[in-house]
Amino acid sequence: MTFVGTFVGTFVGTPGGTPVGTSVVVLGGGLAGLAAALRCADAGHEVTLVERRARLGGLAGSFRRGDATVDTGQHVFLRCCTAYRGLLDRLGVAGSVTLQDRLDVTVLRPDARPARLRRDRLPAPWHLGRALLRYDPLSWRDRLALPRAAAALRRLDPADVAVDARSFGDWLRDHGQGPAAVRALWDLIGTPTLNARADDASLALAATVFRLGLLSDAGAADIGWAAVPLGALHDTAARRALEDAGVRVRLGTTVLDVGADRRVTVAGRDRRRDVLHADAVVCALPAEVAASVLPAPLGPRLAASADALGASPIVDVHLVWDRPVLPVPFAAGLDTEVQWVFDRSAAHGALPEGAQYLVVSLSAADAYLPVGATALVERFRAELARLLPGAREARLLDGFVTREPRATFRPAPGTAARRPVARTALPGLALAGAWTDTGWPATMEGAVRSGEAAAAVVSHHRDRAEVAA
Ligand SMILES: Cc1cc2nc3c(=O)[nH]c(=O)nc-3n(C[C@H](O)[C@H](O)[C@H](O)COP(=O)(O)OP(=O)(O)OC[C@H]3O[C@@H](n4cnc5c(N)ncnc54)[C@H](O)[C@@H]3O)c2cc1C
Repeated sequence: MTFVGTFVGTFVGTPGGTPVGTSVVVLGGGLAGLAAALRCADAGHEVTLVERRARLGGLAGSFRRGDATVDTGQHVFLRCCTAYRGLLDRLGVAGSVTLQDRLDVTVLRPDARPARLRRDRLPAPWHLGRALLRYDPLSWRDRLALPRAAAALRRLDPADVAVDARSFGDWLRDHGQGPAAVRALWDLIGTPTLNARADDASLALAATVFRLGLLSDAGAADIGWAAVPLGALHDTAARRALEDAGVRVRLGTTVLDVGADRRVTVAGRDRRRDVLHADAVVCALPAEVAASVLPAPLGPRLAASADALGASPIVDVHLVWDRPVLPVPFAAGLDTEVQWVFDRSAAHGALPEGAQYLVVSLSAADAYLPVGATALVERFRAELARLLPGAREARLLDGFVTREPRATFRPAPGTAARRPVARTALPGLALAGAWTDTGWPATMEGAVRSGEAAAAVVSHHRDRAEVAA
């Protein structure tokens, strides 16, 4: 007999509760929780996943707006996001995303021809040489200063605390990158990836992104996006995969408290309480929620981390035009408020014939949070008309705004020390979430990696329990 046998199926219930046989309880059904639950189930554990909402996918999901399906916000990934792409494979939906066969970004500018950043089929770092030489938003001086900065970036160690303590913007200035280069290149790519401008970003996180994405493997930064609503991947397909793996999914169930003995108190929509008890708990909740439900001394410590990490917003402006106005799947914007714009027509689900559904994605969007939806829609209608000749004649059929004030933590200098690792001092309790110490900024890739790391901690805990028995 093993320890496992004694714990599996243990139910500590309040009257009226349903007995729940679990050995691992995963708290939170975002990408971190999904990844953890699948890994634990694949490792042979009996898993229950608890999620407050009526759907899975967390920050990367979809909701209904009338007949249309709307994503919580535009999401992209890169070819180097191997853990996230592995999750898509595991969910059986790798065919429902589009991945460029080579990095190709159109850069729209008002009153100027679009520029283009397209990689060559050469090994890194030569794959971008020709594209950058031809990239006319940069002066020749700026273009010629790039290789030295890129080489210095490549030599940085993102695990070094001194590197993390430094601002990316400062470092760029020290390496000959003027304001035009920061705006037209480093922030163009860095702001959506880090959810911060270079001046507000940790050099370590920026170095991770640029080294992995642009300076390692030639194909690493090829861009991918969902060809369907995010909910089709992270909710519908995820539920199916979890069910097939034997995971019990409890939606509409809120975690209220976690005891040091791994008793998890939850409440359903009817407010009825259950207490679940398991061999192990993976907490994949947002930082501030984890801090409020986990026991002392962990909870209060996490509260301090969550406060120090802070939150950075993302705002999306959704515009439905009566005709196609954007001739490419997506584009970046320069010298305009439009940071990136995506054609999401294929995912809308109820688009009038001939119409086009565009989403303008605004990262580090603090300034846009207090602005009303009508004003934002008009502002970005006008901005797109400055960038896209077709939009000047086109009629706007619908416009609305989605806002996520806590889209990511603030990837500020000194952030690394505030991100806890998966293993905690409490036996059998592991942490996951894009905000934990993954080395990545808060991304889908970071979330999946964190879930897998927490699953490994939990399995290790159980292995040790078995040996002890
Ligand atoms: C608008 C927007 C755009 C983004 N764009 C990109 C992008 O382009 N590329 C990229 O890689 N990343 C992007 N991100 C970031 C990415 O979505 C997140 O990093 C990732 O989804 C976080 O996953 P997670 O599982 O760590 O957290 P979450 O998704 O926050 O999951 C936590 C889960 O816990 C649940 N929960 C909360 N409280 C409780 C409770 N008390 N009981 C039970 N359950 C609870 C929540 O409902 C949620 O489902 C974007 C985020 C936003 C908001």
